[in-house]
Amino acid sequence: MPLRAQILLPLPLPEAFDYAVPEGWAPLSPGDQVVAPLGPRQIRGVVLQVQDATGYNRPLKPLVEALDAPPLPPGSLAFIQWASRYACQPPGEALAMALRGLRHPRPKPIRCVVASGQPPERMTPARRLVLDAAAAPLPAAELARRAGVSSGVVKGLVDDGALIVAEQPAPLPFGVPDPSANPAHVLNPSQSAAADVLKSFVGQGFQAALLDGVTGSGKTEVYLEAAAAALARDPDAQVLILLPEIALTQAVLKRVEARFRAPPGEWHSGVAGPARRQLWEAVAAGDCRIVVGARSALFLPYRKLALIVVDEEHDGSYKQEDGFIYQARDMAVARAKLEGALVVLASATPSLESLWNAESGRYRWLRLAQRHGVATLPDITLIDLRVDTPDSGKWLSRPLVTAMAETYQRGEQTLLFLNRRGYAPLVLCRACGEKLTAPDTDSWLVEHRYSNRLVCHLTGFSMPRPDRCPHCNAKDSLVPVGPGVERLEEEAKSLFPEARIAVFSSDTTPDPDQARAMVNRMAAGEIDIMVATQAAAKGHNFPNLTLVGVVDADLGLRGGDLRAAERTFQLLAQAAGRAGRADRPGRALVQTYAPEHAVMQALRDQDRDAFTAAELDQRRLSGLPPFGRLAALIASGEDAGALETFVRALAAAAPNADGVEVYGPADAPQALIRGRRRKRFLVRADRNIDLQGYLSAWRARVKVPGALRLTLDVDPYSFL
Ligand code: ADP
Repeated sequence: MPLRAQILLPLPLPEAFDYAVPEGWAPLSPGDQVVAPLGPRQIRGVVLQVQDATGYNRPLKPLVEALDAPPLPPGSLAFIQWASRYACQPPGEALAMALRGLRHPRPKPIRCVVASGQPPERMTPARRLVLDAAAAPLPAAELARRAGVSSGVVKGLVDDGALIVAEQPAPLPFGVPDPSANPAHVLNPSQSAAADVLKSFVGQGFQAALLDGVTGSGKTEVYLEAAAAALARDPDAQVLILLPEIALTQAVLKRVEARFRAPPGEWHSGVAGPARRQLWEAVAAGDCRIVVGARSALFLPYRKLALIVVDEEHDGSYKQEDGFIYQARDMAVARAKLEGALVVLASATPSLESLWNAESGRYRWLRLAQRHGVATLPDITLIDLRVDTPDSGKWLSRPLVTAMAETYQRGEQTLLFLNRRGYAPLVLCRACGEKLTAPDTDSWLVEHRYSNRLVCHLTGFSMPRPDRCPHCNAKDSLVPVGPGVERLEEEAKSLFPEARIAVFSSDTTPDPDQARAMVNRMAAGEIDIMVATQAAAKGHNFPNLTLVGVVDADLGLRGGDLRAAERTFQLLAQAAGRAGRADRPGRALVQTYAPEHAVMQALRDQDRDAFTAAELDQRRLSGLPPFGRLAALIASGEDAGALETFVRALAAAAPNADGVEVYGPADAPQALIRGRRRKRFLVRADRNIDLQGYLSAWRARVKVPGALRLTLDVDPYSFL
């Protein structure tokens, strides 16, 4: 019987393609990896389904090869298709993410030596030591070290034939977890209650829980109990722990390793390619049972996913903004549903969406009320900058400086929080008033003093700091405006010349090793004052940190997007929550020009529920998420005229539907990036509307000219 196979290719194509299965092939199943022809190219793809092609009268190209590679498990395949439908993105883009681990080579085998069984021609005491140690294959240098001899002795034995060279596969970077190992701590009653609920959910099909507790209340401790239960219940079960940032993974990796006496698999951009390939294959084979990773770990080929934890679930970096645009927290819930698994969303400051789901009973709401071991949360005081105004060119108010001095004298640590990289967010020419921007882009250049460059944070453009204004050519006329962390460091240094001061931002810690080193130095008390962007606002545990100064609490409120207040509250609450752990009480001083703003009041009173209620009311009134749904369409291109014509046609093609409003087209706030002009539409729909269906219908009515690009963003988080 002739067969045709539907093959999904990892390319941004609208759909899967049909191919003929050559006669005599072993049967193909969904998930199998094959090579298919596409034009002149041959591409790795995945079988979606195989059908009888009898009577099918379109000519089909035959598949080229069935690959001897692990198939994508059914759960992965279903997830890829669901995710692309939900996000209105080409399914091949989701597949490309799922196959990314296979792009890398496998780790090289390791050259080892092992005793051949043949005695050497001449035996010496040193040679005896080596042969005694060489029963199992070891790298030559390691063998010499263990035997306590020089490497020449080992080499001599190889030349003699008493040792032979044997290649060993590279060791796996993860181990087999032992779920019966004991937890690190006896859980307190509120932790036990939460852990018991989660344990009772394990193996019961799809369940979702919101683990809601202030920083340090033991959320990690609790979700590791759920992981233990999942691993113990089923010897094939796999667990995924998602984290928003690489800097956080190290601490969690260590705790998982301590809890289960084996390192878990690690998946993020900082992991070397060959190790990713190894992990991909081990996950597909079911050999790797715990993965700790960044959002893309959700697309790994799990065979039997029993539990997904989304730690710091409110974090905006779960939204991927380019390539395949998706929100990993929401996708984690969807994947758990498809797999019949438990999903645990953990946060000290949950997203409004998750709080709403918890309030309305869709997620089980587990609240950890207290911080473990510490009776009180830090005292939060608002500093009204209209009253305590810092001197011109300074950013620290007198009450904050006084508190820093007291903290320093006690030998305790201060964290100054300012979510702004570099020295100054803007460079202005005093002579002509020009604000320097990146070429062909509507974005200010940020001054970086460490590197003495002006940098565009949007496009990555950078240039050496000029000594003349590029516009009017005036000499020495450029002045920095406003503070970044580098400038704050300068101010702290001038106030506390003896103190050990460090800046923690993505510029000072560009890779995970450096971030880890920075966190370790702070934890070990080697830093007195840390000046940090959001890199340090979450997750880390600094026992001697007792003062947090929030330098510009109003920063996030100026953005004017849907989640501005929510994000500001989360960030400030997380930053303030850094102060005081273990046995030392902490305090947080929050500098603001708007102490009467609802966000600041709720923060001072540590009244998250009041903030949530007020914010949810606002959203309900305006039909915004979680009470309505949003999508953005962004059209861009270099030719302003062509773009204008296209967006007009797009606007005219918008389907009419009850419960859907379309706003736009309007210039995007970032209206020009790298020479491309950008226009946006915003779609708001009632909850019961099939938003994806609406968007697909709309897109199908227009043809996007080749020089333009149209991007769909379902549930947008960025409104730029
Ligand atoms: P969260 O994830 O909510 O921030 P963690 O699980 O990291 O909290 O716990 C914070 C700190 O308190 C950690 O150092 C943890 O080891 C400790 N801890 C948590 N629960 C207990 C407990 N029941 N007994 C002793 N120490 C605990």
